[in-house]
Amino acid sequence: MLQRRPCFRVCYICGREFGSQSISIHEPQCLEKWHTENNQLPRHLRRAEPRKPEVLTDMIIKTM
Ligand SMILES: [Zn+2]
Repeated sequence: MLQRRPCFRVCYICGREFGSQSISIHEPQCLEKWHTENNQLPRHLRRAEPRKPEVLTDMIIKTM
């Protein structure tokens, strides 16, 4: 199923799938929404901000 959509990216914040163009629009909005929701949580339920995965790591390993 996923092979039919080679251009999709998974949002590192919410885990949903988006096209490679729409994710660049979605990610800033998603992060903003995440902060809004996280700030409304009680202090002990708040989480650390999601980090953008290091996409280049694989390429560096293959080069070495
Ligand atoms: Zn998202």
